[in-house]
Amino acid sequence: MRKELEKYFRTDKLPHIWCPGCGNGIIMGAVVRAIDNLKLNQDKVCIVSGIGCSSRATGYLNFNTLHTTHGRALAFATGIKMANPDLKVIVLTGDGDCSAIGGNHFIHAARRNIDITTIVFNNNIYGMTSGQYSPMTPKGAYATTAPYGNIDRSFDLCKLAEAAGATYVARGTVYHVPQLIKLIEKAINHDGFSVIDAVAICPTYFGRKNKMGSPVAMMENIRDLSVTVKTAAKLSSQELSGKIVIGEFYEESAPEYTKEYAKVIEKAQGGTKNE
Ligand code: SF4
Ligand code: MG
Repeated sequence: MRKELEKYFRTDKLPHIWCPGCGNGIIMGAVVRAIDNLKLNQDKVCIVSGIGCSSRATGYLNFNTLHTTHGRALAFATGIKMANPDLKVIVLTGDGDCSAIGGNHFIHAARRNIDITTIVFNNNIYGMTSGQYSPMTPKGAYATTAPYGNIDRSFDLCKLAEAAGATYVARGTVYHVPQLIKLIEKAINHDGFSVIDAVAICPTYFGRKNKMGSPVAMMENIRDLSVTVKTAAKLSSQELSGKIVIGEFYEESAPEYTKEYAKVIEKAQGGTKNE
């Protein structure tokens, strides 16, 4: 265990800053297990994060890592992938980071189908800045900035990803870890823009503000609300209300952006401009 810890983690940077019972460590562990199962060369992996509790993960991981600015992880990751198409580029981002300030980067990375894997630590709140509601906070839920209940509607990040052009889209949770690892493996192996919506828990803010009890109770809540894609297909929209649908939503083989760009370079070098 110690050997594995030292291989994949910067043990000099531990212990981590996350609160007891936080779901972030489970997702970070799932990412590392997926990479280990795939036997990827660590020097060929680059992990990029934005700002937020989840984005601290890059500080603890022993890969090529870049901890960037709020919402901009995908912009940096795009530059890295364009300059080094052979790297496996993985973005770790929070729901606020990815779906609010980073929303446009998310849409356009999906549209381009650039070969980047985005893993969203989705705990329905901005944790690091003390519990403001995010676009993933459900309507009616409480947050530091919604003491009378959130009146904004949340949206489905997986549906957005698919509509914008992502070619592998799935959702897992911190309760279903073996499945989460498998989904991450598949996303990393996919040639194109892949998204894993990883449902997480923030006991400190979302949990306390919504009186959800202990971290264990929050995990049990995820277990009880989760339904598979197959089961969901048989349920009405009313029956699906408030449920967490888990599994693979979409998979498609489509031209990947850096490969398309390589063709442009080839044309430019051969002087075959259309004029
Ligand atoms: Fe985790 Fe929430 Fe604590 Fe941040 S504030 S470390 S998301 S429990
Ligand atoms: Mg969050």
